[in-house]
Amino acid sequence: MPKIYNKKPIHQQKIAEKRIKFLFQHAKEMFREDSNASDKYVMMARRIAMKYKIKIPSPLKKKFCKNCHKYLMPGANCRVRIHKHRIIYYCFGCRHYMRHPVK
Ligand SMILES: [Zn+2]
Repeated sequence: MPKIYNKKPIHQQKIAEKRIKFLFQHAKEMFREDSNASDKYVMMARRIAMKYKIKIPSPLKKKFCKNCHKYLMPGANCRVRIHKHRIIYYCFGCRHYMRHPVK
């Protein structure tokens, strides 16, 4: 029998998604002043996603490091390159590469 994951009600999930977007927006705004604050916002967004068992929207997934969960700002703490139809993000913090296919 497949494992059943008890998901939260849809309206709660929608609120959670809004909160995640809101947190990422704040992370972006705060980055210039305090990058540690941005990292905290990312952590909070991830916690919400885990709690409500929802996915972080894919455009936002590219904005933090999968390995060290730091907020990534191209040109500041990450490098973005395009190679073989993939966008490659390189995190300066943990030297981790992330590859995203280009559609
Ligand atoms: Zn990293």
